[in-house]
Amino acid sequence: MRNKVRCLIIGSGPAGYTAAIYASRANLEPVLYEGMEPGGQLTTTTEVENFPGYPDGITGPEMMEDLKKQAQRFGTEVRSGRATAVDFSVRPLKVTIDNEQVIEADTVIISTGASAKYLGLADETKYAGQGVSACATCDGFFYRKKVVAVVGGGDTACEEATYLSGLAEKVYMIVRKPYLRASQIMQERVMNNPRIEILFEHNAVGLFGENGVEGVHLVKRMGEPGEEWYGLPIDGFFLAIGHTPNTDIFKDFLKMDKVGYIVTEHPSTKTNVEGVFACGDAADPIYRQAVTAAGTGCRAAMDAERYLTEKGL
Ligand code: NDP
Repeated sequence: MRNKVRCLIIGSGPAGYTAAIYASRANLEPVLYEGMEPGGQLTTTTEVENFPGYPDGITGPEMMEDLKKQAQRFGTEVRSGRATAVDFSVRPLKVTIDNEQVIEADTVIISTGASAKYLGLADETKYAGQGVSACATCDGFFYRKKVVAVVGGGDTACEEATYLSGLAEKVYMIVRKPYLRASQIMQERVMNNPRIEILFEHNAVGLFGENGVEGVHLVKRMGEPGEEWYGLPIDGFFLAIGHTPNTDIFKDFLKMDKVGYIVTEHPSTKTNVEGVFACGDAADPIYRQAVTAAGTGCRAAMDAERYLTEKGL
């Protein structure tokens, strides 16, 4: 197995695989490490309806499988393994995989994406795997004909609630504001769904149950006069409140914003370290779409190719 490569890609979502397609077609012979969640966040969604070129939609896992095949067709070497440390102060750049193997690379393309956020309640940990989930597609099946709650009012929350309404008997959405943040079409979808009930101005503050989740402690109009506390019986508690970029291992070397999104030299994907490029959700606090991630993946590969040519590497 090669331990020295010209182009190392970390992460296997739409950004990573698009970078891999472009890098392999440019003869950079890239190696791509799939990371913790092969295929990335799209493997946990159902239908992708907004990626151009699929008039009938496509499932997230199918799309990622196709992207992987497309990257491999041009020679990308896809390896399982997770980058656990980096040293960007040396040349070649060093990336440690699974705490043991060190790969040397002339260029590194970071496409490590983002992960679902939790509220930070002790009960989320207490009931992990016993009624608490951040992925309806993964776990919805266990809640057929049951009652579930989804926290959040964005597109993800609406999508998760809609998906769960096809399985569960009743879906509550717990939304802290008096309105949804989601796009109009998603809002209409949940509002018109008889199985979904939206609890506006509600905060979840804890969970209860003897054997797994049996209910959620809610506060209505928290902090306002007449705030109301009550327990709502549910069987499943789904988080859909946004994401955190997976960039911890780079923090000693790369410039990031206060949340941890990698800062790139717009319009390129260059980071503050020469030869290191960032693309996809790891560097995008705003758009975070599969198609925008793919677009930046393409740019990262082109930037890496130019860098290697300039340096004669
Ligand atoms: P968003 O950041 O858009 O929404 C997060 C939601 O969670 C908001 O309603 C927010 O409330 C709520 N929230 C955040 N923190 C807390 C908390 N501590 N307690 C209670 N509620 C909380 O994240 P999404 O994951 O929904 O979407 C991210 C991006 O991905 C968006 O740009 C979205 O459009 C896109 N997306 C598109 C899809 C599609 O088009 N098919 C599908 C999924 C996502 P508040 O409004 O009060 O801040």
